Amino acid sequence: MIAVPDIKIVLVNTSHPGNIGAAARAMKNMGLSSLVLVQPEEFPSGVAVGRAASALDILEHATVVDSLQEAVADCGLVVGTSARSRSLPWPMLSPEQCAEKIVKEQGQNRAALVFGREDAGLTNEELQLCHFHVQIPSDEKYSSLNLAAAVMVLTYELRKAVLNAEAQQESADDEWDQPRATGEQVEHFYEHLEKVLIRVDFHDPDNPRQLMQRLRRLFGRVRIDVMEMNILRGILSNIEHNLKGKD
Ligand code: SAH
Repeated sequence: MIAVPDIKIVLVNTSHPGNIGAAARAMKNMGLSSLVLVQPEEFPSGVAVGRAASALDILEHATVVDSLQEAVADCGLVVGTSARSRSLPWPMLSPEQCAEKIVKEQGQNRAALVFGREDAGLTNEELQLCHFHVQIPSDEKYSSLNLAAAVMVLTYELRKAVLNAEAQQESADDEWDQPRATGEQVEHFYEHLEKVLIRVDFHDPDNPRQLMQRLRRLFGRVRIDVMEMNILRGILSNIEHNLKGKD
């Protein structure tokens, strides 16, 4: 028996409570339970309860947080959804690849699947907090699905991947030897890195260009592990230490 991964479904700044209820129902249908709401416009809500039907428990246990950073702070695999491609290309997954990756890494990296606002999706900053982006290959002439429908499609893919893995009972011998760094550890690293880059005059905060975004993309692509992150933090600390008194 392969367990359904304990992934977080994160809905950012949802305006229609009906979508929250319908997303909860889709989650329960597909065997998921952790719903995180980032600044929902209306919650708790009777409309959400009505649309959730028998998935009321998911709404009752939903966590409400202030930012996406907070929502993914304990996650080592963060996948953002987008109905269209963005200006800075990012590692992309198909819905099938996304589900397979989450199932394969379960037990090692907690995953979050992040959904955007009904009208505007996720901001570029929010998308840059994600290791991968996933796009449902809908018709280009009208690519944007209803929010809860997108939750349904991606959680169904996850369910299929669990059932497939169960059928194959794959051995997990290709697992990474270290857990990946979590969202919170990675944020501390970026803060430290930026500070040192400014200190050595490589980075000008008044003219940042896309430096930090590009570095985020680089490290996001590598999906650095905890041990590697400690090494980099140690290097940064030694640089700072050695620069002291050299002004
Ligand atoms: N106009 C917005 C679309 C918002 S649709 C935009 O262009 O980004 C609301 C949310 O549903 C999206 O943020 C995303 O989480 C999900 N969604 C809708 N269509 C999708 C698609 N084709 N692939 C992946 N997610 C999609």
